[in-house]
Formats: sequence, C-alpha cells, structure tokens
Amino acid sequence: MTANLIGGEWVAARGGRLVERRNPADVRRVVASAPDSAAEDAHDAVTAVAEGYREWARQSPERRAEVLAAAAAVLERDPEKLATELVTEEGKTFAEALGEVRRTPANLRYYASESLRLTGRTYPAASGLVYTARQPVGVVAAITPWNFPLNIPSRKLGPALAAGNGVVFKPSEVTPVLACRLVEALLEAGLPPGAIALVHGGARVGEALTRDDRVAAVTFTGSTAAGRAIHATVGPHRRCQLEMGGKNPVVVLEDADVDRAADLIVRGAFGLSGQACTGTSRVLAHDDVHDTLLERVVARAEALRLGGGLEDGVHMGPLATREQHAKTAEYVDAALADGARLHTGGGPPEDPRLAHGYFFRPTVFSAVSRTSRLAREEVFGPVLAFLRVSSFEDAIEVANGTDYGLSAAIVTRDLGRALAFAEEVGSGLVKVNQPTTGMAMNAPFGGLGASSTQTFKEQAGEVMSHFYTVEKTVYVSNG
Ligand code: NAD
Repeated sequence: MTANLIGGEWVAARGGRLVERRNPADVRRVVASAPDSAAEDAHDAVTAVAEGYREWARQSPERRAEVLAAAAAVLERDPEKLATELVTEEGKTFAEALGEVRRTPANLRYYASESLRLTGRTYPAASGLVYTARQPVGVVAAITPWNFPLNIPSRKLGPALAAGNGVVFKPSEVTPVLACRLVEALLEAGLPPGAIALVHGGARVGEALTRDDRVAAVTFTGSTAAGRAIHATVGPHRRCQLEMGGKNPVVVLEDADVDRAADLIVRGAFGLSGQACTGTSRVLAHDDVHDTLLERVVARAEALRLGGGLEDGVHMGPLATREQHAKTAEYVDAALADGARLHTGGGPPEDPRLAHGYFFRPTVFSAVSRTSRLAREEVFGPVLAFLRVSSFEDAIEVANGTDYGLSAAIVTRDLGRALAFAEEVGSGLVKVNQPTTGMAMNAPFGGLGASSTQTFKEQAGEVMSHFYTVEKTVYVSNG
C-alpha cells in the first residue's frame, strides 16, 4: 500500500479512501493501492510545503546539488528492481523500463549541476550597480502523467528543487508506486521533508492543488483537455507550464531510404505500445514510395511480439489502462466508419494467454482521409495512419493540418528540403532521419499549438530555470 507524504509523515488520505492499481498485463493481479485524495489533502500538502520549503531554499547551491546527486545514486542502487516495478505497474517492456530507470538519475544529476548555474547579470549604469538575481518561486505543484512515471516527474522535481523551491507532487493515479520511489530517494538523500509533499489521486485533487493561490507555479504534463482545464483554473497571475498531447507525423519523401523510414516509423509508432507523447501517429508518404513503405511497415508491425513486459523477447506490452484500451478501439471503429483501410491489427490479440491484459495489436491504416478523426486527433495507442502526399509542399500542408505541434520527422536524403521542413513545420521538435520519439536530456523540449503553453520550455538548463525562479532587478548606490 502506498501513502501520501505530508509534512514528512506518510499518511492516508483524510477521507481514508483508496484506489487500487492492477497489473495492466494481467488485471487479476493487484499491484498497489493508493490514497484517493481530495481537496483537504491538497490543502494540507500545500500548507506543509509553504511552511517547510524555506529551510531548503536557505541551503547552499552546493548542498542542493549534493542532495539531488545523492538521490540519483539511490535510484541507481537496484535498477532491475525498479524496472520490474515499473513494468508491473505501468506495462512497458523491461527494456523500455530499464531505459527510463537509467535516464531518471541522469536527469537528477544534470539538474543538480544547474543549481550552481542560477546566475544573474550586471548592467552598465550611470552610477552604482544594476544587477539581476534569481530566487525560488516558492511552492510548485507538479502534476504528471503515467507514461513516464519516473522520468517526467524527475524533469519537474529536479529543476524545481535545484532552484530551492518546495514541491507538491501529484503523480498520475495510475502509477503511485513509482512516484513513491522517486520521493523516497529524495528523502533518503537528505531533502528536508518539508520541501516536498506527495499527494496521490486523480483530477479532483489535482484541480484542488491548481486552485490554491499559495501554489506559485504549476508544471503539468498530460492531455490537452486536462491542460486546458488547469490553465483556466490557474489564471493569469500564477505561472503555468503545460506540455500536452501530439499527433506527430513522419514525412517520407520520394528520395528516402524506405527501409530506414520503415524502421524509424515502427519504433516511433509502436514503442511504449504507442503511448508516447512524441509517438508517431501519422505517416505522410510521397506517392512514389507509399505502397512499398506501407508494405514494409506492415511486415515489421506483424513481427512485433506482444506480451507481459517481463517475458523474454517481448517487443510490446499492454496499454496502461482500460480507458486507453477502449479509446484505441473507438478510434479503430471511427477510422473504419470513415472509410480507412485496415492492413493489420485493429483489436486485441487472439492469444488466450494475453486475455487478462489490456493488449492491443499494432494497427496500420491507409487511405485515411485528411479530415477524419484518425488524421487529426491523438489516439495515444498503437494505431498508425498512412496518408498519401504528392509533393513536399503537400506534405507540409498535411503535417500542419492538426491543432497539435509536438514532434515531426522527415525522412529524406535532401538536406535542403530537410532544413526547409525544420523551418516550415509547426512543431516544437523536428527530427531529420530520426524517429519522432527520443529526446536529448539537455536540449529544450516542448510543443507548439495545442501541444504546449509555449511559455516555458522544459528540460534545458537556462531556459528551464526561468520557470522555477523569479528574477529581480536590483539598483545599488553607495550610501
Ligand atoms: P491526463 O491529462 O489524463 O492526466 C495527467 C495528470 O493530470 C494526472 O496526474 C491527472 O490525475 C491530472 N489531471 C487530470 N485532470 C486534471 C485537472 N482538471 N486538474 C488537475 N489535474 C488533472 O493524461 P494521462 O492520461 O495521464 O497521460 C496521457 C497524456 O499525456 C497524452 O495526451 C500525452 O500526449 C500526454 N503527454 C504529454 C507529454 C509531453 O511532454 N508533451 C509527455 C507525456 C504525456
């Protein structure tokens, strides 16, 4: 059983209610039960951090860096154990889980070093001294999704704490165990317990947190619908950083290496069972290569082995939740009703050993209408839509034909058109001959359009610290 952490104590939700989490590969197995917190728990958590974080803010940058680096070392003690917990709670494969488990401490170390780089500037002045200084914003609420339950929180808690803030962490209700592991590591590393609170639960407690005026900044990653609701609640006077959904295209031009394109499309579309915000969901293939590419993608998709993430040789785990499974099936039905042609997948596998999990076969459609739901809306499941394009210009038009703008890739040997694509495509991340997924740890990350508030980029040092600090301009003359 997991608990909330408030004021340094592990406690139940005040109402005592619990939510159960089951293994998505076999829902007969209960993995955890976690507090189903409500508004009063959010209130208690903010009270504790608003009082407690100042001790942390007063500590030297060196000490803050030491604590974050020590938390990284705790997480590195037994990566296989942590990866196993991640597989059973969230559903990704062991290899995917191990990748996330290794990336998380690397993130914390990177942010540890950032605490030493919170510099200001000095300005030429007629007399005296003019300089800027950065201070923590205060209480940060971090609200996170389930698809990277360690990695995404580490990209919020790490920089927030590096800058001396206190954090109320509201993880996804789907992944309470991994959230606890991250918080436990920080406490073991010496983070003062007043600097952090953990409240489990769903939208209800998240909403209460965002409504609380003592929260100076809300950092959120999740769906565009939830992000919009949060933005409305937070209002104009407090900070809000939202990273949301995507409908990420791969454009394949007529000069592309088709095998290379097929490999990176399949990786981007079916890795994490299609549940990556940057996952590939549209292929915009030039007429000249469309049919060959489609055939090769379908062959690769059919070669993927589904199963529980702890089994050997498994390429794709289950979807994380019943809702994701139902939503994916609904998009398949909508695509068929819109006249798209199904080439493979389209539903759960027939293997009776997988009957108790939320498995969904990798699914490929062609002849997808440009205006259909499948062409425009995020599925967040293993469903890939092929659309034909007749030229580079046509590809840009279709690529930019959704509200989203997270990640977009092009496969071509023509450097000129690759660079033109980077300029013209409306997405915050652009990949040339690379999958839409996979990001550098130290480069700015964030979408455009409905994928992001675009006010603050996540991840990279200097840009990121702007969200977690307030800047003052100080004028000094000799007295
Ligand atoms: P979600 O929006 O349902 O939930 C995300 C978090 O927000 C959860 O902790 C949830 O409890 C909370 N929440 C939901 N409604 C809320 C509200 N009104 N007020 C406050 N909190 C609220 O998303 P999910 O299903 O957990 O994750 C999948 C989504 O996340 C996809 O849309 C995916 O594209 C997106 N995502 C985006 C990125 C990115 O960096 N852009 C990364 C990962 C996932």
